[in-house]
Amino acid sequence: MSAFSDLTLDVVKVRADFPILERKVHGKPLIYLDNAATSQTPRQVIDVFADYYERYNANIHRGLHTLSDEATAAYEAVRETVARFLNANKRHEIIFTRGTTEAINLVANTWGRANLKAGDEIILSMLEHHSNIVPWQLLAQQLGLIIKVIPVDEHGALDMAAYRELISERTRLVAVNHVSNAFGTINPIRDMAAIAHDHGALILVDGAQAAPHEPIDVQALGVDFYAFSGHKVYGPTGAGALYGRAELLEAMPPWQGGGEMIKTVGFDGGTSFADIPHRFEAGTPAIAEVIAMGKALDWVSNIGIGLIGSWEQRLLAHANDRLRTIDGLRILGTAPKKAGVISFVVDGAHSQDIGLLIDQLGVAIRTGHHCAQPLLKHFGVDATCRASFGAYNTPEEIDIFADALERVIGMVR
Ligand code: PLP
Repeated sequence: MSAFSDLTLDVVKVRADFPILERKVHGKPLIYLDNAATSQTPRQVIDVFADYYERYNANIHRGLHTLSDEATAAYEAVRETVARFLNANKRHEIIFTRGTTEAINLVANTWGRANLKAGDEIILSMLEHHSNIVPWQLLAQQLGLIIKVIPVDEHGALDMAAYRELISERTRLVAVNHVSNAFGTINPIRDMAAIAHDHGALILVDGAQAAPHEPIDVQALGVDFYAFSGHKVYGPTGAGALYGRAELLEAMPPWQGGGEMIKTVGFDGGTSFADIPHRFEAGTPAIAEVIAMGKALDWVSNIGIGLIGSWEQRLLAHANDRLRTIDGLRILGTAPKKAGVISFVVDGAHSQDIGLLIDQLGVAIRTGHHCAQPLLKHFGVDATCRASFGAYNTPEEIDIFADALERVIGMVR
């Protein structure tokens, strides 16, 4: 860890929180470099599940009994935690969802259906994950909307001049990711939000890949909607959140109907809906998962998201240095501002083969289209290998990964 000793992130201490890092894969110590897909979970978060199911498992909001009260208090406290994590102004601006995908679908099906009409334009970018493309395509087909796409330059950075040309008074929404999952590009969201607002459009930000790596301040960014997933921020699957500006959420109709999202229900047209945030949380939510997500955000905050981000930047620089020396290896996505994600292809070797063989050496990377088919197609490939870093990764792991990669490439060529 010599090259990193000037940083205060104590990676040995961080790693000690993750039981999974002790396991072996094919007889080799696990080196987990698939954090952009799902990060690993610290013991403190895992323990939430046993604690919840052993002590206060109960449905929330409806009961007057002690267990229900405790579960409700723990669940609602996470709203405050998420609001703090995103620097939202009010806790009721936080809606719990299953993750980023559900959050985006929620906005498409509530704000979108209520506010968009044939001929209205939505701007997406070439960098989007399918979950910030397909919900808008479905809506566009149904309502007759026009989708425009911000192109990228050869480094995988958004072409901001093209964005300024695409946007007009017909644009109603700009929906972009904060950080690209396929290339790691960090997008200039504050500028993009200002430009959107100058044209009377709203901006929704898919923050799935930003939340684990950098401090988020939805007020400073000036965004209208912001979505992220708990399982990419050291939390469990099944829980995530949508931030929406209160005025927007208050004016939005419900999406899913059911228990918890109503004020009153009658067969005589007397059904009325709950205030935000509950209007958008129909049915029994993922109670334990949300509480565990809160614990994960606390874990991140205790270390400091800024510190995690700068640690990952050092890992990224080290990985870049190592991978650039590998013959025939080409890194896709070389924007000047990047999170800890490296996508690459290797001449004469299939990404899939590399992924399978390197797994035999204990190294977990992702291969495929990363749910970003338009982007990969634009760069003329069907698949890449992707290594993505988290707080617990080390420079030694990067070295083992790079050595393993060289070995594997030698085998498949
Ligand atoms: N957006 C981005 C940029 C992602 O990387 C992902 C997941 O990989 C998603 C959205 C979808 O997240 P989820 O599957 O947790 O809803």
